[in-house]
Amino acid sequence: MITTVVQFAYIIATGLFVFSLHWMKDPKTARRGVFAGVTAMAVAILSTMLEPGIVNWEWIAVAIAFGFIVGIPLSLVPLTAVPQRTALSHSFGGLAAGLVGTAKYYLWLNEGPENLSSFRMIAIIAEIILGFLTFTGSLLAAGKLQEIKWIPQRPVTYRFQNFINIGLLAVAVILGILLIINPVEYEFLFPVIIFLAALFGVLLIIPIGGADMPTVISLLNSYAGLSAVAMGFVLDNKLLVTAGALDGSSGLILSIIMCRAMNRSFTNVLFGAFGQVQKAKAGVEQRSAKTETFEGAAQILEQANKVVIVPGYGMAVAQAQYRIRELYDLLTKLGVDVKFAIHPVAGRMPGHMNVLLAEAKIPYEQLVEMDDINPDMPQVDVVIVVGANDVVNPAARTDKGSPIYGMPIIDADKAKMCFAIKRSMNPGFAGIENELYYSDHTFMLFGDAKDVIGKLVAELKNL
Ligand code: NDP
Repeated sequence: MITTVVQFAYIIATGLFVFSLHWMKDPKTARRGVFAGVTAMAVAILSTMLEPGIVNWEWIAVAIAFGFIVGIPLSLVPLTAVPQRTALSHSFGGLAAGLVGTAKYYLWLNEGPENLSSFRMIAIIAEIILGFLTFTGSLLAAGKLQEIKWIPQRPVTYRFQNFINIGLLAVAVILGILLIINPVEYEFLFPVIIFLAALFGVLLIIPIGGADMPTVISLLNSYAGLSAVAMGFVLDNKLLVTAGALDGSSGLILSIIMCRAMNRSFTNVLFGAFGQVQKAKAGVEQRSAKTETFEGAAQILEQANKVVIVPGYGMAVAQAQYRIRELYDLLTKLGVDVKFAIHPVAGRMPGHMNVLLAEAKIPYEQLVEMDDINPDMPQVDVVIVVGANDVVNPAARTDKGSPIYGMPIIDADKAKMCFAIKRSMNPGFAGIENELYYSDHTFMLFGDAKDVIGKLVAELKNL
């Protein structure tokens, strides 16, 4: 009877997981998607607790308490820190899968080698390799994104790097095959495989940096999902298999979407060492960008017919969305047509800008996707770039040597005039200079985005 109830609950949880992903496709239903996902997870955990095999509650209670202690502060991180928070969650998922696989191997080994069938051993080896490489890789990725001082942020490359990495993984897989063939005699290989998988996770992430990090996070998401699938086979739990498969495939699809938005291939992301800081070219003279006063900028905005705001990562850092809403309201009252140009990879995660602008209650219909707004750019009187850099860098169109060459951008340089709001002339996430700032019709408004927009709003009110 209980088994039937549990299986029924698993079907409900699976359905809710699928609907959760479906609803999260659209901002209007995203909140419902989150509730469906949370409910599915609650149903999954509670129904698993009813399993007849569970007789000891103490350690489960300790694990739940520990999960709350770690999970609550993690849920409170600012939106800008979500990529590293996500990476941390993946690393916990990977570690859990790896530890379950390890525990199951030694338990079954002690209970009698007949328990270690080839099928179980294949699942265990897949689980520990994927689990431990996800654990260390995600941990390092989280550290890089959090800009922890002693972790190099930029790609670290050396000779024969790809050869060494792939060779290491191949050795782990070969040792795994030996262990599958003879799980008792080659017991000593088990910790060696764990060590190699954990080392591979670190070496996989070391050469990746800059703008590729969020793509790698979603790839690690798919590895975490696959390790959960393997864990599902080890524990003979169908829900883990389906939920892991959903997690794995959605992570992979998201990585593909991000690669497309940046016009890059998977191999390039994994092995291209993108994001290295470009050295200044010898003999190139130091140029300076033009600036504008807040008063002057406000007067120009007042006279404009069409204004496009391009938000980027800096808007998220400054939390400038509420001030932007004030600017939008003021300009709209003055009869100016204001639109927001949304680049698919602006910020640090897909949908980052949409979420922030929705938070400030900016009407959703004013948000225009890059491909739809670009044809209108030559007719735009003023484009205001708020803390965006790589996503408006014309080098992506013109400079074949640039690491972002080929990435579709918002054509801010084609508007009649551009105001660029940022704190300095420092490069963006990809670590490269931006010609837009030196263009004849670009004027810098230096400062924190929230302060600058606040000053523009004050000047507009004074006019
Ligand atoms: P960038 O990281 O290129 O640039 C952000 C700019 O914001 C910086 O130049 C910085 O300049 C400025 N800035 C930072 N803080 C502030 C502040 N408080 N006030 C004003 N300006 C500030 O951001 P983009 O959004 O243009 O590009 C996103 C990058 O991330 C791209 O390279 C993209 O490929 C990558 N990426 C994004 C993904 C996603 O899903 N969104 C996924 C994969 C990659 P300064 O320091 O001078 O102020």
